[in-house]
Amino acid sequence: MSDRYAVIGNPIAFSKSPAIHAAFARACGQEIEYGRILGPLGGFAVAADAFRAAGGRGMNVTAPFKLDAFGYADETSRSASLAGAVNALKFEDGRVLGENFDGVGLVRDVAHNLQQALAGRRVLLLGAGGAARGALLPFLAQAPRELLIVNRTVQRAHALAEVGSRHAQAGTRVMAAAYEELQAQRFDLVFNATSASLQGELPPVPAAVLEGCALAYELAYGRGLTPFLRLARSAGAAQLADGVGMLAEQAAEAFAWWRGVRPPTGEVIAQLRVPLE
Ligand code: NDP
Repeated sequence: MSDRYAVIGNPIAFSKSPAIHAAFARACGQEIEYGRILGPLGGFAVAADAFRAAGGRGMNVTAPFKLDAFGYADETSRSASLAGAVNALKFEDGRVLGENFDGVGLVRDVAHNLQQALAGRRVLLLGAGGAARGALLPFLAQAPRELLIVNRTVQRAHALAEVGSRHAQAGTRVMAAAYEELQAQRFDLVFNATSASLQGELPPVPAAVLEGCALAYELAYGRGLTPFLRLARSAGAAQLADGVGMLAEQAAEAFAWWRGVRPPTGEVIAQLRVPLE
């Protein structure tokens, strides 16, 4: 019987993970079974227990269960601990291991697929939720010159910047600010890690801040030109991207963690990409 994996979330019907992992398995010549589980709200542990009892080897975890999965794991990686969230589980020798690959997936997409270095650049991170927290350590590992975190609830930006300062290399400044404090500062790379786009909204970032930036990156995916990307385009951002590459790269990290081989991502990204126009 093939090894069994699944993605759990609520809702889950439109998850791209089964198609992504099936493509990875084909590309690597591996036989796996990969399904989707609609987790009942408030019932993550019961659903995960049932999957393990049925022989499941690992799970991807999506909204709203990343915090539940963190609590469910017996051991968590440093990135998962810092994010306080788990997006991949591995069941091994009776133990539950938790990882968070969102941040490394994002950095891999930026550095490898989009060919943008973070080292020495000025980086603006909008948002201080789970995705922003997951991005913090992987961003800092790239040694940007400056990382400014801006969030609607400004205390959360300050708390995250404080953690970041403790992990930053010499030569990286980590700061926090409120949207109202963002005047005409300029950045090389701007990341929208807010969930505003999921409601078709724009975080209150002034257009001037996006003027001439090298990359405007929307973490949400599959939505075409979101209000953030539209603003970035009109402000003259040199390159626009959405989170489809991040999605594929975090999936590849999970696949490698489970199966010991890292699949190629190019074809999957090309298939899932929605034009940004
Ligand atoms: P969270 O719910 O953990 O955090 C949401 C963040 O967005 C908070 O910082 C919140 O601010 C902010 N926010 C929400 N609405 C607004 C608004 N109208 N204006 C300004 N700020 C707002 O979400 P996640 O961190 O899990 O997800 C964030 C984004 O990242 C989503 O678009 C999600 O789809 C995407 N994502 C993409 C992945 C990928 O693989 N491509 C993986 C994971 C996430 P406050 O603190 O004030 O509430």
